[in-house]
Amino acid sequence: MKSVWLDQALKAESGTTVTPLDGDLKVDVAIVGGGYTGLWTAIELKNRKPELDVAIIERDICGAGGSGANAGHAIPMWLAMPWLENLSSTDEAMRICRASVEAIDDIRNISAEHGIDSQVSTHNTIWGATCDRQSGHWEKVMELLEAHQIHALKPLSRDELREATGTEALVAGVVDTGSVTLHPGNLVRGLRRVALARGVRLFEKTAMTRLGRTSPPTVTTDGGTVTAGKVILAMYGWSLSIPELRSNAMVMFTDAAMTEPIPELLDELGIRNAPAFTDSRVFIEACRTTADDRILWTKSGGWLPYGDKLDACFKRPHRTEEQMRDVLAAYHPRLRDAPLAGSWCGPIDRTMSGMPTFGRLPTCRDILFGYGYSGAGVVPSRVGSHILASLAMDMEDEWTRCPLVRPLDRAFPPEPFRWIGGQFVKAAIAHKDRYDHEGRDVGPLTNFWLKFKPKSYKPT
Ligand SMILES: Cc1cc2nc3c(=O)[nH]c(=O)nc-3n(C[C@H](O)[C@H](O)[C@H](O)COP(=O)(O)OP(=O)(O)OC[C@H]3O[C@@H](n4cnc5c(N)ncnc54)[C@H](O)[C@@H]3O)c2cc1C
Repeated sequence: MKSVWLDQALKAESGTTVTPLDGDLKVDVAIVGGGYTGLWTAIELKNRKPELDVAIIERDICGAGGSGANAGHAIPMWLAMPWLENLSSTDEAMRICRASVEAIDDIRNISAEHGIDSQVSTHNTIWGATCDRQSGHWEKVMELLEAHQIHALKPLSRDELREATGTEALVAGVVDTGSVTLHPGNLVRGLRRVALARGVRLFEKTAMTRLGRTSPPTVTTDGGTVTAGKVILAMYGWSLSIPELRSNAMVMFTDAAMTEPIPELLDELGIRNAPAFTDSRVFIEACRTTADDRILWTKSGGWLPYGDKLDACFKRPHRTEEQMRDVLAAYHPRLRDAPLAGSWCGPIDRTMSGMPTFGRLPTCRDILFGYGYSGAGVVPSRVGSHILASLAMDMEDEWTRCPLVRPLDRAFPPEPFRWIGGQFVKAAIAHKDRYDHEGRDVGPLTNFWLKFKPKSYKPT
């Protein structure tokens, strides 16, 4: 099930096709996964040391994972400031957040330099709330940022919200002034083109079937074995197939849908080129316009895969087309019957803290990993590429010492407890979201299960 984004990107391509791996190979760095994390890291390594022999092994095509399926909200990491500050220092937290702002510049620059139609807009994302009980959760982080003279979040009145988004549903909100939206499919396929132009060896339709925790480490595929000085696992939710990485993250799917171009309808509602917005449910809903005048919207809280069995969930969205239309209609009733271009779903890899984890595999220090973006990987994957490149080059620098390089958590239990417990947590979240909107308190049992809910990247 391809996203409309990836479909568009592939149709617009006159690109190079690459063949699967056929035979054994020796390289300096082998990267497993051809999404933003893998591609940015390959490009970063080549930028730092052009003579490095870097190979990417992608089991499908670049962009087939989260990078070609996401909603394209590119959000700087200011909302993570309290978490980063807690784990390090104010200066270090500031440095990471500033790097995330630069990451958006990097997307713009690489797109301009290589003719990538990333469609980086100036539309911000509004963090909104659809009921009083869920509003105001951004205040603490906003205060903290203001104390550091960072004006990343700006409150909007209800009238301003209505005028900006065209919906009556938001009762409160703040605009994330540094955020932008983009075309995720064109970005990931464009990064693929840049990586190839830099001399990265790419093998699509080549799945890693075994990871050798040897010295040097090996990646076995059906077509041959890659032996590498360093292996980087850039596998997103599929990282759960690596036993060492399992307990640090869980995966839940998000549903997405996109209309056909509807410029007249958007004009009628006054929302052509409107900013993007989210609500404040735990199973977050988000809505944005596209450069070609479509509406794209998402709702999290979809499939909960059993263990690492993500592929079965990919076949169709969790919610029906009707249910997705209901989600959109709650914000824009006029758009309920707008012509639909497609709907799809994709995995979200969540850590308990809501922050990604980078590091070395405890069983083999030459195998590195980066995952756990918790729903916001477009920008942090570029930040992570600095970290992974420094780790791969055995450097001791500000990236390898940064708070995103941290020990793996033991936060999530093994199966079947994870899946069974996950169903209870999921039900508790849905129950709380509903009760919040009805102005009611949930009972102790729901509160008990809510304790196991992973945090999100939203301002909290
Ligand atoms: C519906 C949806 C909406 C989202 N919206 C946003 C948003 O608006 N903003 C935002 O910041 N983030 C968003 N995200 C999250 C974002 O898409 C991810 O955080 C980001 O794409 C992660 O990039 P990645 O390269 O780590 O993962 P991926 O792009 O998934 O790349 C991992 C790759 O590894 C490959 N792979 C897996 N196993 C193997 C193997 N054994 N051998 C070889 N290759 C393998 C996969 O095929 C895949 O291509 C969203 C995600 C979804 C699903």
